[in-house]
Amino acid sequence: MTERLHDDARPLLRAAADLAADFLAARRNSPVCGEASMAAVDEALQRWNLHAGQPLEAVTAGMFDLLGRHAVRSDHPRYFGLFNPPALPAAIVGDLIAATVNPQLAVWSHAPAAAAIERKLLQLFGTRIGWAGDEVAGTFTSGGSEANHTALLAALARRYPDWAQHGVAGLPARPAIYVSSQAHLAWIKIARAAGLGSDAVRLVPVADGLALGGDALAAFIASEPERDPVLIVATAGTTAHGAIDDLRGIAGVARTHGAHLHVDAAWAGGALLADEGQALLQGIELADSVTIDPHKWLCVPMGAGMYLSRDWSALQAAFTVSTGYMPSASLERRDAYIHSLQWSRRFIGLKLFMALAQLGVDGYARMIRLQLRLGRYLLDGLRSHGWRVLNDTPLPLACFAPAVDAAGQDDAVTRIAAAVVDSGQAWLSTVALRGQLVLRACITSHESTQQDVDALLDVLDWARRQVLPASTS
Ligand SMILES: *Cc1c(COP(=O)(O)O)cnc(C)c1O
Repeated sequence: MTERLHDDARPLLRAAADLAADFLAARRNSPVCGEASMAAVDEALQRWNLHAGQPLEAVTAGMFDLLGRHAVRSDHPRYFGLFNPPALPAAIVGDLIAATVNPQLAVWSHAPAAAAIERKLLQLFGTRIGWAGDEVAGTFTSGGSEANHTALLAALARRYPDWAQHGVAGLPARPAIYVSSQAHLAWIKIARAAGLGSDAVRLVPVADGLALGGDALAAFIASEPERDPVLIVATAGTTAHGAIDDLRGIAGVARTHGAHLHVDAAWAGGALLADEGQALLQGIELADSVTIDPHKWLCVPMGAGMYLSRDWSALQAAFTVSTGYMPSASLERRDAYIHSLQWSRRFIGLKLFMALAQLGVDGYARMIRLQLRLGRYLLDGLRSHGWRVLNDTPLPLACFAPAVDAAGQDDAVTRIAAAVVDSGQAWLSTVALRGQLVLRACITSHESTQQDVDALLDVLDWARRQVLPASTS
């Protein structure tokens, strides 16, 4: 009744590829938001009996159906939410190849071609950052959190030569990480994981509620001389509002304190592939290290992050160990397991390489330019439809609110967002800005068009009329 383990894989994989292609083709006409009740999911799972086997093709079809039915379709062209874009077909194929060949990236000698492909990608992005000339160091990671975690460990290794051996208990000073109050809160978990505790993350208030400036950072650091600024982080493209911190000003502060400067460009860093995007991120070349998530703007399947650095020595100091059972570690070959957090590691870089090999940097640049332009189209549309735009960024992310007084704003925003999501026509979120809730719409899909933005504007107008019936707009 069931396939044996060693049957020919071809018919099974061909059938799965067909189902995957069907799933992608049905995307645009699927509801943006699926059935998300716990009871419905529990009931659907009851039908999956894991005690007896079933034919793989039926299992595969059932899985696409189950997952498509019960999820926010963050791959939908009318999903204007967080940065979970649809995966590019070339990148999906890259993940298929990585899973099929399954090279072990821990040591160069096990998978030299795979290791070289990842090094080539790190070099390409290092060059786009503006580090031309130097050998770019770094590693692929599961995502931005792991890349940022890597930055902290590298910074500790640089600052305190004894840290790798004696840990934080033996440190001569009280290490602190300075980030904007709008930074991604992965930093809190990272500080805990490093044994520093969340109190080590110093959330520096930002003047306009958006971007961190060098002067504000300098004054904040000066106000607590008992802390040692080991790591200073500038966020280039905040998750909530798309703000880009003052990269040059913050770099100056980092230099004054001899601190490791990390730029968290998890989302917006992908835009470096376009000249227009590169211009928006000027100053990023001053960083000691940078986070870029290919699984965000570069549209490869999760999880794919990059930690890019100017030099290997801090990575080596943070991660080198020696064991009896590994093939002899090679610093010269930059064996991944002695330069990064993971040990056994999948071939994360391949999906990005495949997409770049198909599209070229030019193809990615075109995609990014179109999305930047669509972001401007969205902004113009919001303004002409009577919304108040409240953030300020060249990135395609709008924070806005209806023209109501401050006391009524949170309630109106909450109800408008709920009405839009419940309509099934589009998906967007709410976020806090300067102490109030605002609506947040971000261009995330490379398949989104002007018609999709028009549809969002229409459903927003409709929702506003439901929530604020007295409104003239
Ligand atoms: C998404 C994001 C992160 C976290 O990255 P993950 O890939 O979700 O781990 C960190 N910083 C910024 C600015 C982000 O946008």
